[in-house]
Formats: sequence, C-alpha cells, structure tokens
Amino acid sequence: MSAEQYSTIRLILGDQLNLKHSWFENQDPSTLHVLAELREEATYTRHHIQKVAAFFLAMTKFSEELHESGHNVLHLSLDETTEYADACSLLTALASKYSVTRFEYQHPDEHRLRESLQALDIPGVEIQAYDTEHFLVPFEQLERLFKRGRAHRMESFYRQQRKVHDILMDGDSPEGGQWNYDKSNRKTISAQELARIPAPLLFTNDVSKILKRLEKHEIPTIGTRSVLIDFPVDRDQSLRLLDYFCEHCLPKFGDYQDAMTGQSEHAWSLCHSRLSFSLNTKMLHPREVINAVVASYNAGQADITQAEGFIRQIMGWREFVRGMYWGNMPEYASMNYLNATDQLPGYFWTGETDMNCVHHAVTQSLDHAYAHHIHRLMVTGQLGLLAGIDPEEMDAWYLGIYADAIEWVQLPNTRGMSQYADGGLIASKPYAASGNYINKMSDYCRSCKYNVKSRSDADACPFNSLYWAFMNQHRSRFENNPRMKMAYVTWDRFDEQSRNAVLNRAQFCLEHLEEL
Ligand code: FAD
Ligand code: SF4
Repeated sequence: MSAEQYSTIRLILGDQLNLKHSWFENQDPSTLHVLAELREEATYTRHHIQKVAAFFLAMTKFSEELHESGHNVLHLSLDETTEYADACSLLTALASKYSVTRFEYQHPDEHRLRESLQALDIPGVEIQAYDTEHFLVPFEQLERLFKRGRAHRMESFYRQQRKVHDILMDGDSPEGGQWNYDKSNRKTISAQELARIPAPLLFTNDVSKILKRLEKHEIPTIGTRSVLIDFPVDRDQSLRLLDYFCEHCLPKFGDYQDAMTGQSEHAWSLCHSRLSFSLNTKMLHPREVINAVVASYNAGQADITQAEGFIRQIMGWREFVRGMYWGNMPEYASMNYLNATDQLPGYFWTGETDMNCVHHAVTQSLDHAYAHHIHRLMVTGQLGLLAGIDPEEMDAWYLGIYADAIEWVQLPNTRGMSQYADGGLIASKPYAASGNYINKMSDYCRSCKYNVKSRSDADACPFNSLYWAFMNQHRSRFENNPRMKMAYVTWDRFDEQSRNAVLNRAQFCLEHLEEL
C-alpha cells in the first residue's frame, strides 16, 4: 500500500504494548500504527540505561509481532525522530505526510502525556482517544472512587475489588475466612531456606544496537550498562515468566515478601515475580496474572496466604495507587507535607556507603534496574524520609532507576507511601522505623560497620538516631495518630541525657549524610 492510501494513524506508546487490545482484532489496510523512539521520552528524567533499552527493545518486538499479524506498522528509531521535539510534533508531521483524516490514540496513563495529547489539534484531522483496556477499574470510575484531596485506604478498596471481580471469594466471604494474611507474610529467611530459593528466570535479550543508538544520540542515563538485559521484552517471555513465577516462586511468595538478605546471588529478587515491567508495558493484563495465581491456588500449588498476598499487590496496591494518582493529579506531584528540602546523597548513584543495607539496595538497583518492594520502601525510601530529602529528588531517582517506573505508579508510591509528602492521603502513618526493622527482616546488620543496637554512640546505626529525631521533629503532626502514640510514650521514657545524645547523633548523621 502506498503512503497516500492511509486514512488513519494510530499512536502506540512504549507502555501500551497490549497485543490483546481490541484495536488488533481486525486488520485495516487503511490504518497505520506508529511506534516511535523519542528523545523526549528517553530524557524526561535520567533513566537507567537498562530501562531505556528494555522499552526500546519491547517496542521493536511489538512492532514486529504487529507486522507479522498483518497490521501496517511504522516503527521509528531515534535516528529517524531527532527533528521532532515531542510526540505531538511527530504526529502532526506524519498526518501531513500521509494526508490522513483521522488520528487515534489510547489514553496515556501519565498525566503529562495525557494533557499534551488532549491538547493536540491537527487541522483537518479528526482525533479519537480509546481506553487502553488494561486496568481492572475503568478510568471513568476513578473520579467517584478516589475523591480529590481525601485520604483513602487500600484495604477497603481491595476488599471491594475482590467482591466486584469475585476473586478468592467463598460466596460473600473471603476464601479461607480472612481478607488479609499480611501478618503471616513477614518471615525472615534462614540459611537453609535461602539455599532452596529458586534462581530467577533471566532472559538474555541483546540490546547492543539500541545501546549504540543511545550513545550516538548522547542520551544521559544512569545504572550499569549491559548488552544483555534480563527483563521479558515480549508477550511470550512475559508469559514464560508468569508460569515460572507460579510454579517456583508463588509457593513462598507471601512468606518472604518482606525479607531481605545479602547472602545469596538470588538475594535481589528472592521469591518476587519481577512481573512489573511486563504489567506496566501492558504485555500482560493484570486479570490474566490474577487468574494464573488463582489457578495455582486451586491446583494446590500455593496456599491461601501466598496467593492472597500476591493478589493483594496486583488487585489492591497496583489499582489503588493508580486511582490515587488520577484522583489527585496534578497537585499530587508537588505535595511536600513534611517540608523536606535536603539533597539526595551521592551514594544513591554509586552504592558506595558503609550502611550495608543501603549499599545492597542501591547496588542491586544500579545492576538490575530492579529492587523489590521492601528495598524501595524500608531502605532507600526510609532513609530519604528520615533524612528529610526533598520529594522532588526522591521522585526523580525512583522514576529513573527502575525499569518498571512510570509516573502513575512511581509517584504515589514514592511521594505518598514512602515519603508521606501527601500528608496521609495514601498511608495512615509514615513508613518510619529504626534500624531494628531492617535487622529483623534481613542479615545486613551482622556485617555492617554500624551498630544496630546503638542509638547514640559514634558507630550507632544512622537509622536509629534519624528515626527518633524524625519523630521528635514531627511530634505535633503525629503524636495523636493512634498508630504512633506508643513510639512517643517510649521516647518520653528516655531520660533527657539519652534523648539529647540521640538527637546529637542524628544531627551528626544529617550533617555528614554524604559520608555515612
Ligand atoms: P512483586 O513483589 O512480585 O509484586 C507483584 C506485583 O504487584 C508487581 O509486579 C506490581 O505490579 C504489583 N505491586 C506490588 N506492590 C505495588 C505497589 N506498592 N504499587 C503498585 N503495584 C504494586 N512499582 C512499579 O510498578 N513501578 C514503580 O515505579 C514503583 N515505584 C515504587 C517506588 C517506591 C518508593 C516504592 C516503595 C514502591 C514502588 N513500586 C513501584 C511498587 C513495588 O515496589 C514494585 O511494583 C515491585 O517491587 C515490582 O517488583 P515485582 O514485580 O517483583 O513485584
Ligand atoms: Fe542498615 Fe543500620 Fe543495619 Fe547497618 S546497622 S545494615 S545501617 S540498619
């Protein structure tokens, strides 16, 4: 077909790689599907090099699959899009080049892109937006479910979703008699159990050509460069990872969901699914992931505590943070309830710190463009919270470093859940804890330069003094919070000399944050 014969252009963004979308049910010879590597998308934050490479390779694979199934596809590489400042200018040029009368796109999940596409006006071209057909909760319901500026709690949303979708339900009651098995999901890993943790299923996707393009176009990146990336980059690999997870990791997923260790080469992923990249690029639908887990549970391969623990992440947290994002954007992106203004220390980009837990969490993030939830929340996130790091800096780091980081999911997790910058819209209390928590859930403290048992000595674990200083500083905000009252009772039991020693140690840690 010659270019002049197209009447419609469809845009497919890098996180819209959904082969099951109704767009692709029939081939239409007059429609051209456009996927484009754009400098704007590769640089709107400083991304991990493996993240950019994984997105670009997944887009290439998707274009090939679409083409093979009989659709017209135009896949533009960075080399071919340099003259376009953004997606809108490229689309305007393509509409003119192909003389189309219609432009179609799927609603972006990111506020920035949604706004710019909604504002797009191409004279003589009719523009139509479609649903991505990805999430469990339809976009139109979000406004009703997530009232702007109001606190919402994941647990009640999740229970409602379980009922709506009839997942792990026994009539009107939750399967197994409990909605939530969170309390059984807090085990640490013994050396014996660690030896039985399955190796992660790693793919060896060659991105050498993409890396050359990134170098040629001087795309600034962070993280460890790797010619072979281990993320699934197409639907087939994503389905293989899902199968592998259900068979090997799900049976222990809930048990070790919060565990951390430095003692195994599989420590970076343990029993986590590593499905977030496949989900967020829409190569997998959340419903099919949930169905696979329910099927494993029904087949007796995983007990209810593991299956429920996992389904809560997808059906609960993932859908919930999306609702909070759309319910509160764009204001959410600038909230700073605790007035945190400090700079992120340099070791977030090198891993070079004597704090063993932070060293492990950052190094594996740089190496794999991945960290599991507890590393993100209770190690790096918690340090940022306790040290009063500006949420802008935290957001930029999280948005860049993880391959699964897209603003709709990264922002509420970082600004809300981890930094409490939304003043409690998402979390009923800040995720602040002393080094005791990390010591309980990991083996990091055993080989750390700092002493987790000390609050104020010269070698005291920085998390300890920073935790108490944080609580002390924000007393007026938190002392009436029922979930935090006990901490203030404990603090008040310290004698004045001990309190001063802790606060002095915290002051030292803040002043020397870069050198810890
Ligand atoms: P698993 O532990 O196997 O969990 C299964 C799935 O549940 C994940 O793939 C994910 O889709 C979903 N899930 C679990 N927890 C959450 C959550 N809190 N919010 C949304 N979905 C969840 N997740 C992202 O997908 N992108 C991000 O940019 C992101 N940024 C985060 C930043 C911070 C500060 C924190 C604390 C969490 C962040 N998360 C983010 C949530 C979570 O850490 C990741 O989804 C998870 O670590 C991905 O690894 P996994 O696929 O092995 O997850
Ligand atoms: Fe982290 Fe403190 Fe434990 Fe060291 S002692 S690993 S800094 S929690």
